[in-house]
Amino acid sequence: MKLGAAALLGVSASKFIPVRNDEPYFTAPLLWHGSRSFKRMAFTYDDCYLLNKMQALEVLLNEYPEFKVTFFPVGQKLLHLEEQDSGIWKRLVERGHEIGYHTFDHVNLGIMSPAAALMDYDKWYAALTQVLGREYNVRFVRPPYDVISYTMDVLCQERGLVATLFSIGGGGEPDIVTRAIQKGKGGDIVQMHIRTQDYNSSVQVYPWLRENKWELVTMSKLYDDYLREQVNPEGCDVEAGSSLMRTCLE
Ligand SMILES: [Zn+2]
Repeated sequence: MKLGAAALLGVSASKFIPVRNDEPYFTAPLLWHGSRSFKRMAFTYDDCYLLNKMQALEVLLNEYPEFKVTFFPVGQKLLHLEEQDSGIWKRLVERGHEIGYHTFDHVNLGIMSPAAALMDYDKWYAALTQVLGREYNVRFVRPPYDVISYTMDVLCQERGLVATLFSIGGGGEPDIVTRAIQKGKGGDIVQMHIRTQDYNSSVQVYPWLRENKWELVTMSKLYDDYLREQVNPEGCDVEAGSSLMRTCLE
């Protein structure tokens, strides 16, 4: 472990709180949340270590066909899960879910050289194309341990990736997670992991999200909303307040 236990636990234990950080040296696109103008959240599921929880989540997602999510699997699990459940990644992509890069072996990009990170990405991407049986347009990277680094900046520039952090995350007991999400805002990026607790949280909060007319969208959808808003910041019509298109929440 290159990071202290406290640093690891800090992001994976019971805290389920908004995270904010400014990284002025980071020049590639870096996203903590999307546009606040739409009642949409992006749920992201990291690591993808557990086959049975992936399968259970797939069943859950199939009960909510309008919900789309993003997976950030490590490369070795792309291959292992495919060996155990042939076609699992293809099925998820075909149903509109998205896949992003999370390194091949869950290494901290911050301690890798840019050259090593590029090699790692290419190895991960080869695993992805192998399990999908085709090329795939990867747009997002979730850095392991949520570490923002110079190496990730170079990687994003070289491979055209958007660094994806989160505005709600860390996991915890389902009741805590559900309350945090119920206080969420449009554009929030929710970080989960494929583990029992986060699966249980998903089971608990999905019905509430549907009842309350929340859209769960892929990172691509969330990011494209955000880009559109950057191009046309008047889109939310704060001056007149009379537009029929007015969807701003704040
Ligand atoms: Zn991870």
